[in-house]
Amino acid sequence: MTESEPERISHPEHDHNLCIRNAISVAEQLCLSRGVQLTPIRHKILELIWNSHKAVKAYDLLDQIRPVNDAAKPSTVYRALDFLLEQGLIHRVESLNAFVGCHCSGTQHDQLLLICTACHTVEERAAPAVLSALGTELGDAGFVPQRKTIEIHGLCRSCKSVSAAASEKADKH
Ligand SMILES: [Zn+2]
Ligand SMILES: [Zn+2]
Ligand SMILES: [Zn+2]
Repeated sequence: MTESEPERISHPEHDHNLCIRNAISVAEQLCLSRGVQLTPIRHKILELIWNSHKAVKAYDLLDQIRPVNDAAKPSTVYRALDFLLEQGLIHRVESLNAFVGCHCSGTQHDQLLLICTACHTVEERAAPAVLSALGTELGDAGFVPQRKTIEIHGLCRSCKSVSAAASEKADKH
């Protein structure tokens, strides 16, 4: 999705319903064109992941899916996650062992993930300059990467401003 604006993602005031609708319709179209099935359970898991831009763990998904599907087992959730990963609809955040929706869905791609340690929001950035520099570095090392995901932990834009405001307040006392 070239028209998505990554800057907006970390802003809590954006219209997140649009993100969800967009992600679901992209997933439906992709599965249709690839001849693979977005079964009800896969659909539901994708929806749950897209509840927010925060990374979610598999067992949290299981807790959330049980009220609507009491037959759901951990293996049901893991199989659905594997499918969504394979189709490039979600990303695994390795350092958190959690999952987040991909908003440039449809292709397997390298990415830079900015992970907020305060609110667990994950912002995905295409970061072409960074990844091409990394590619050069790997080439120089004669190293063949299978996958390139850079995960950076820190404070997102909104948590940073909250913590800046808090320390300003503390300074005044
Ligand atoms: Zn959103
Ligand atoms: Zn992505
Ligand atoms: Zn944050």
